[in-house]
Amino acid sequence: MQETLRGQHLPADQIKRVVKRELQRLGKNGENVKKVDLEGPFIVVYAADPAVLVGTPELAELARTLKKKIVVLSEKPKLESESEAIAKIKELVPERAEIVDVIFVKETREVYIMAKRTGYVVGKAGSKLTEILRETGWKPVVIRAPTMQSTFLETLQRLLVGGAVERKRNMRRMALRIYREPLGLRRGIYITFLGGAREVGRSSVMVSTGESSVLLDAGIGVGSGEFFPRYDSPDFDLDNIDAVIVTHAHLDHAGALPLLYKYGYRGPVYVTRPTRDLIALLLYDYMNLSKRTGSIPFFSEREVRLLLNHMITLNYGETVDISPDIKLTFYNAGHILGSALAHLNIVSHRHNILYTGDFRFRNTRLLNRAVSKFPKLETLIMECTYGGEKDVIPPLADAEGQLISLIEETIGSGGKVLIPALSVGRAQEILLTLVKAFGEGRLPDVPVYIDGMIYDATAIHTAYPDYLSNYVREKVFKEDEDPFTEPHISPVRSPDEREAVIEGGPSIILAPSGMLEGGPSVEYFRRLAGDPKNAVILVSYQPEGTLGRRVRDGARRVEILSNSGVEVVEIRALVASVEGFSAHADKVQLLSYLNVVNPRPRTVFLVHGEPKKISAFHSLAARSIRGVRVISPHILERIKVA
Ligand code: ZN
Repeated sequence: MQETLRGQHLPADQIKRVVKRELQRLGKNGENVKKVDLEGPFIVVYAADPAVLVGTPELAELARTLKKKIVVLSEKPKLESESEAIAKIKELVPERAEIVDVIFVKETREVYIMAKRTGYVVGKAGSKLTEILRETGWKPVVIRAPTMQSTFLETLQRLLVGGAVERKRNMRRMALRIYREPLGLRRGIYITFLGGAREVGRSSVMVSTGESSVLLDAGIGVGSGEFFPRYDSPDFDLDNIDAVIVTHAHLDHAGALPLLYKYGYRGPVYVTRPTRDLIALLLYDYMNLSKRTGSIPFFSEREVRLLLNHMITLNYGETVDISPDIKLTFYNAGHILGSALAHLNIVSHRHNILYTGDFRFRNTRLLNRAVSKFPKLETLIMECTYGGEKDVIPPLADAEGQLISLIEETIGSGGKVLIPALSVGRAQEILLTLVKAFGEGRLPDVPVYIDGMIYDATAIHTAYPDYLSNYVREKVFKEDEDPFTEPHISPVRSPDEREAVIEGGPSIILAPSGMLEGGPSVEYFRRLAGDPKNAVILVSYQPEGTLGRRVRDGARRVEILSNSGVEVVEIRALVASVEGFSAHADKVQLLSYLNVVNPRPRTVFLVHGEPKKISAFHSLAARSIRGVRVISPHILERIKVA
């Protein structure tokens, strides 16, 4: 192949021609390649016999040369009858895999195989997958079945399978924009901070190159701050946005996505697969909660469907073209399941930007720490939620020890333990700690109840062990054990069951929200706080103005809004705050990240922090990494980086 084609941006038609020509040349079988298409950033090859191409060194070489992902599909499945195809799959895959469901999507020529032990479906180095493709003509997509039954996941699966045709159509349309003829304009690279600058909440950052514009995160405000990012800014034009990249499934980073679709955005949203699932869960929960409290949510199910049908999922480490001059790669961020650092390679300017989203730079039971080594890096946009002077998080082992002994004492004296926890992340971190303690006989034999969204969020965790810590992966893949399903843990699914838990004997209760603002944790608190035998253990950050903050700060009497009006609750239960489970990097981790991140950036932007913490960390950072430009941008500030 001509040297000039290497990794170069080519318009759609040219790519198709080049790929077809090269495949015919490499595959020797010129008749095999029937069609080459572009779907989103991916090249899709339709072949008479896909097995001739799949897994060949020639195909890998071509993908490497073009720096693109090539997917091979059958032009027409060999076994068109689904029952025959299922029979064949079951013949090829050992029973130990425990296949629980097989779904065919005709339009995409894919077969979704859900199994409990996916390793047996994949086979050694993917050998089983190739066999399935060769024997049936369907491209297998292997999904690890959640070990916990979740109605939400079933709904999501229906939505995704039901939306396959529309998604395919969208992917083809979006590909035309990604692989358009570049204008060749060379303006500077500008970064505009539309939200999350000198504040926590509504994170959204726009990167514009003259050729293209992308949005990093689209969050809404949490707590008392402003709600939407500044999409009213004259610098922001929805029609000019090529891609939205979302780092993780927290509302302050993803909550404004439905708004974009409501106002006509029809471009892609790039996420990891677990992030996609968790965002859907959060948005449905948000709609339900709004309905229950009688307020009207700013979006409807229509926008959530539109969003799901425009999402393009990427694995960590997979690089794709998202516009004529920008390539995107996700790396593990260690914050919550599926969380990613977004790395933009702006080819036109040979400039690289890393946006951390939220991240943590130490290992926990649930997640590995954030990646700190990149091929190239000039500009770093880093969160500093815990960049304050006193923000030093104690070691995890101390936090775990403190939590277990508090629970032991409370249960020993016949009480119940309420742990208000964020549904995604914190709850699973705590569950893993409890499961380990049960295993080591360090906890008495009492039930652990998980209420609200925690159950579904945990079910999503069980489906993606690949995205979790070495500790979890070891358990799942080596010991064939699921650390989230443990006989002590059971869900609370109805108000009656909740009543039974409140009236029942000693137990441990995990319920959202983590800050006692909305969600079942408030109801448990209202009913359990009056009894001195009980304990309320806070494991999350408690923002100003929340009930959790007042309780943590020692209030002995609080007012709670319940169905019967305002109720005064006397707090006689033990209230304790256990630090150390934070999902963010603390001051020490932030500093160490700045010092080890490789290569060293030329410019560092500090975002996602209260103004006081940002300025405290700014001086620390400027002293610690000399020669690096440190900037703490204001909202709506537009800064040239190249
Ligand atoms: Zn977050």
